[in-house]
Amino acid sequence: MALDSSQPPAVDFHQLRLDGIYRMNEQDELMLRIKVPAGVLSVEQALKVAELAERFAGARVHLTTRGSIELHRVRLGDLAAIGRGLAAVGLTTRGACGGAVRGIACSTSFSPNFALTQALVRRLHRHFAGNPHFEHLPKKFKIGVEDGYLGSRHLIQDLALVLVDAAQDEPRYDVWVAGGLGREPQAAVLFAQGVAQSRLLPLAEAVVRLHARHTPPGKRLKHVLRRIGAECFFRLLDAELLDGPGQLAPAGLDAVPAPPSAVAPLTATIFAGDLDAALLRRLAHLAGVHAGGYLAVTADQNLAFALESEADRAILREQLAEAGLRGDTPEERTTLRVCVGNHACRMGLSPTRDVARRMLQVMPESARSLSWAISGCPNSCSQPQLADFGVVSSRLAKDEQGERHPSFDVYRRKDAKLGEKVREGLSLAELLDAVSHAK
Ligand code: SF4
Repeated sequence: MALDSSQPPAVDFHQLRLDGIYRMNEQDELMLRIKVPAGVLSVEQALKVAELAERFAGARVHLTTRGSIELHRVRLGDLAAIGRGLAAVGLTTRGACGGAVRGIACSTSFSPNFALTQALVRRLHRHFAGNPHFEHLPKKFKIGVEDGYLGSRHLIQDLALVLVDAAQDEPRYDVWVAGGLGREPQAAVLFAQGVAQSRLLPLAEAVVRLHARHTPPGKRLKHVLRRIGAECFFRLLDAELLDGPGQLAPAGLDAVPAPPSAVAPLTATIFAGDLDAALLRRLAHLAGVHAGGYLAVTADQNLAFALESEADRAILREQLAEAGLRGDTPEERTTLRVCVGNHACRMGLSPTRDVARRMLQVMPESARSLSWAISGCPNSCSQPQLADFGVVSSRLAKDEQGERHPSFDVYRRKDAKLGEKVREGLSLAELLDAVSHAK
């Protein structure tokens, strides 16, 4: 049979996931996710992302809670040009979606020990991104490296490394495993305390191998922990550790690009992590002049600048105000993480940005000091179980006319654990009423 060369080859969208690409809709618009190790972007990288967004993604950029960047409504024919552009500035999308080690997060941007955590993130990123030994996993594998326990982001990772002692010759980390959110949120469990940095890469490999060997297809690592219990899980992990090297030679200089912040970093709040490419370009230029040439995508979907002095803070604040970021709107004064919802995600059950704006309108002033999050489906990409007040669009419910509307579950977090569900199946009106009484 002759091949019909006039027909374009069928696209295997599932295969594209390992390259960080999801199909957004039946029109074959694509979402492309860029890994940004520890969320750190150089000016050059930020300018390139802005340029690519303008050329190929409707001039919009989305910042995620894991410090990654998404371009939406990308066309298949433009992927090669985007890939070339990203490669030219040392960025990759490989493994940003699908069964792979995802972008490695660090929620403690520009913290006092950011040089250490950033170096470890970069080393892990170098090791896992595009490494075929750690691809085609049963499901995604998320790693987070944190400078201490503030924010509790260690609870939601497949593997979390928490810096607990930076004073020794070799930094030491607590190791947490098998956490995750989604439909069945589960807090990670502590596997080991005060592990020397040189042992972390073999340990990370062992946890990923355990995932590859023991997790059923389509499930997260937390499924194994739930099924066999922590004791058995740790025995499996010990066996995996015997299978690889116990320690790796020092990596060399482990140079980190972003300088530490000599004073508290300055953060520009980006509502829902959704920004115009022109604004990203402007912020990149400001980082070049006033913040050592780097920006960080934060865990709250904002952009942070490392500062050398308080004088820089005043100057940069003025510049941000000129760029329209005065910091005085309800959107800017409230910590509110927002996933893309059905604005740009096939899984989305609700228009999360619209709902978030309605929430901000009714929120009492006193509740703005709480942290908030809303997710468009139970996948919980905005980490609602780590917010003081979290909202999950849990299902679509039919009204009397047969029209489908999202209903919402509410989570409250009052201690260092994951937030617990306190309300279920609320209509939008009921949700807004709950928000208006939040304290
Ligand atoms: S939480 Fe659901 S709707 Fe929101 S980005 Fe994640 S998968 Fe999409």
